[in-house]
Amino acid sequence: MSNVLIIGAGGVGQVVTHKCSQRRDIFSKITLASRNKAKCDLISSQLGNSIETAQVDADNIPELVRLIKQVQPKMVINVALPYQDLHIMDACLETGVDYLDTANYEPRETARFEYSWQWAYHERFMQAGLMALLGSGFDPGVTNVYTALAAKKYLDTVEQLDIIDANAGSHGQPFATNFNPEINIREITATCRHWENGNFVESAALSTKRCFFFPEGIGQMNIYRLYHEELESIVKHIPGIKKAQFWMTFSDNYLKHLEVLQNVGMTRIDEVEFNGQKIVPVQFLKRLLPDPGTLGPLSKGKTCIGIIARGVKNGTRKQVYIYNICDHEACYREVLSQAISYTTGVPAVVGAIMMLTQKWHVPGVWNIEQFDPEPFLEILGPMGLPTVVIDGGDWPEL
Ligand code: NDP
Repeated sequence: MSNVLIIGAGGVGQVVTHKCSQRRDIFSKITLASRNKAKCDLISSQLGNSIETAQVDADNIPELVRLIKQVQPKMVINVALPYQDLHIMDACLETGVDYLDTANYEPRETARFEYSWQWAYHERFMQAGLMALLGSGFDPGVTNVYTALAAKKYLDTVEQLDIIDANAGSHGQPFATNFNPEINIREITATCRHWENGNFVESAALSTKRCFFFPEGIGQMNIYRLYHEELESIVKHIPGIKKAQFWMTFSDNYLKHLEVLQNVGMTRIDEVEFNGQKIVPVQFLKRLLPDPGTLGPLSKGKTCIGIIARGVKNGTRKQVYIYNICDHEACYREVLSQAISYTTGVPAVVGAIMMLTQKWHVPGVWNIEQFDPEPFLEILGPMGLPTVVIDGGDWPEL
């Protein structure tokens, strides 16, 4: 029975709060805090006001420390934005509380995310006897766990890894992102990197495209290679990977809008002088685009996110495809959110359960693939994200 503090009342925060509320055997007290308390109160009202809410600016460490001291949680689930990660980790260290997030730290002024900043906290968390679990969403998160499962159970060595993320659903909007538009656009427009023979190799954003035939009735879709943060930790923690790539589906319509927005400068992340005020174009664009939280009732169709791992088992080359299928409308019926927020929020709650029940509890800063994948997956399925394993078979090389 534990007291938990959730920070960030966006799309993912809503799912995390609903799912924690479904497991009162573990989360006996829940507090949801965000910059805008009204958003917390709205989520609380969906749950019959059975949780506490609070206002906090998570960029302000003394404010965070005051809130954590007042709430006295066992752990903080950080589902605010990547910019806040280090501040929240600092506050957790100061107050002696465990930490979990779903996205690695990224400085506001450069679209460059990497784990070095958070890994640098390892010694301090270890000495304080505290645990920080990084990247407990879907990708990063479940994709790392699937890779650990492939390495533990299906292959002696994972030599090639393709992480493939399909949103085969539609929200009917001319252009909208399924999670925070600023973070999403920064990620997609960044230079692509993939792992090959011991190094990260760069290529232009969205310049490598393949066709992939997805299972369970989804069928053929275009996928584009991107850099994604789990590549960095997976190739470090799962030895032997010679090539690792991350792929995501985008519709032609999405790419057309993105190209125009880029060409006219609306995706810029530097400050621009406008009518005597400084604005950051991508932040202004976020203000104009649909709030991902409003896409829930509009989204239909499925997501299919998983990994194909190739390597050797007992001297024979083979491959395994491990994935989850999630249905937007089913998510909305359950927690009033679309599947992208759902597939991120549920693994965050499962990661928290692993920590709170001490199944995974080691002081220090850890990526999720560093733990035994099976106990996590045993909880993930019943919590709403079942795993499908196709052991063997013949999916084409990408
Ligand atoms: P949203 O923008 O919907 O929500 C973010 C929330 O954080 C908002 O409620 C916002 O408050 C709050 N927030 C922002 N800044 C602060 C601050 N300084 N202090 C307190 N609260 C703050 O984003 P999502 O819910 O879509 O995404 C949440 C996180 O999940 C992000 O880090 C994202 O990168 C990650 N993610 C991870 C995925 C994965 O699979 N691993 C997939 C998708 C997302 P306000 O509304 O008041 O501004």
